[in-house]
Amino acid sequence: MKTVTILGATGSVGTSTLDLIERDPQGVEVVALTANCDVERLAAAARRVKAQLAVVADESCHAALRDALAGTGIETAAGDGAVCDAARRGADWTMAAIVGTAGLKPVLAALDGGKAVALANKESLVSAGDVVMEAARRHGATLLPVDSEHNAIFQCLEQANADKIARIILTASGGPFRTRTLEQMRGITREQAVAHPNWSMGAKISVDSATMMNKGLELIEAYHLFPVTPEQLDVIVHRQSVIHSMVEYVDGSVLAQLGAPDMRVPIAHALAWPQRMETPCQRLDLATIGRLDFEAPDYVRFPCLRLAREALAAGGARPAILNAANEVAVAAFLAGRVGFLEIAAIVADTLDRYDPAAPDTLDQVLAIDAEARHLAGERVKDCVA
Ligand code: NAD
Ligand code: MG
Repeated sequence: MKTVTILGATGSVGTSTLDLIERDPQGVEVVALTANCDVERLAAAARRVKAQLAVVADESCHAALRDALAGTGIETAAGDGAVCDAARRGADWTMAAIVGTAGLKPVLAALDGGKAVALANKESLVSAGDVVMEAARRHGATLLPVDSEHNAIFQCLEQANADKIARIILTASGGPFRTRTLEQMRGITREQAVAHPNWSMGAKISVDSATMMNKGLELIEAYHLFPVTPEQLDVIVHRQSVIHSMVEYVDGSVLAQLGAPDMRVPIAHALAWPQRMETPCQRLDLATIGRLDFEAPDYVRFPCLRLAREALAAGGARPAILNAANEVAVAAFLAGRVGFLEIAAIVADTLDRYDPAAPDTLDQVLAIDAEARHLAGERVKDCVA
């Protein structure tokens, strides 16, 4: 029997994870499901999979959760601390699918148990990569990359030849505005930005894909997960999202992982690892697809990608500042407070205005994150005024 916990169970990745578990529930016991405040979805999922525990991060939603689960015997809890406690219940396999830096402490709590942590929450690695990787090592936990690119790289990685990697090439769909000029991007609405051509995802990562900040965050994520230098990380735009990433070895061999753009494929890989499981996902039909296209990324039209590359190269506190400012800017864009192109401007300004020493500890990362959020928030107010 494998025990499973899903952090961020009501989101896009969380729902896909539940879908796989519910199709093949044998051998799986659900320990805990968590969400921010989506009580209805959380309670329904907890009932279906007979979870031991359901947790909302937002304490004002606890009464509704208790009512929704009354008489089921399913425990309930609320608050950020309760989410971490749920992560610490020691499930054999934990899906970390909370969005944003809110997922950082829960990821660390899950790693405490020294078990398998399937990592979708890229922001925790961007913001606190050294702290997270060190925690995984210290506790002997296994980090299983779920982000489709990183899962592809993980699948192409030959453990015996980890020191023979020449390059890792992340593929990028280019998002919904791949061919737009900067001028055309100026008036982009929230609805246009969240409508991704290939993937169905949560709002924040959809906007990140549209600005290509997502690929920048993924470069930093890859740097922490795999044994490469920043210079060994490349991005190529591949609009069909069929090749999910590639590893080039010193002999010139390039290994790629391919599949339909469905997150259930990498999630299933992480769930069954080191084995494999069946999924209902569409099979790849290359004859129908016909061709695969590639082009170099455009760092002028997609300044967020450039900012992330620079943050990765500079290291220290830069990735944490980039990540925090981006979260604030994207939230402001989603709330209709700033324009699409202002996202990159807010991130750039925050990086310009704040240059603290490199953080060594979680507390230092969190302090930098808080200050960067404050500065980005001030910059948002300037935009609105
Ligand atoms: P989503 O917005 O659909 O879901 C986020 C989940 O986190 C929800 O369950 C929500 O209730 C919970 N949550 C939000 N704020 C919280 C808080 N403050 N405290 C506790 N819980 C909170 O997001 P998603 O698209 O599923 O993405 C989740 C993570 O996975 C992100 O880091 C994203 O970058 C990454 N990811 C997503 C995809 C995808 O296809 N959706 C692909 C690769 C990586
Ligand atoms: Mg990805």
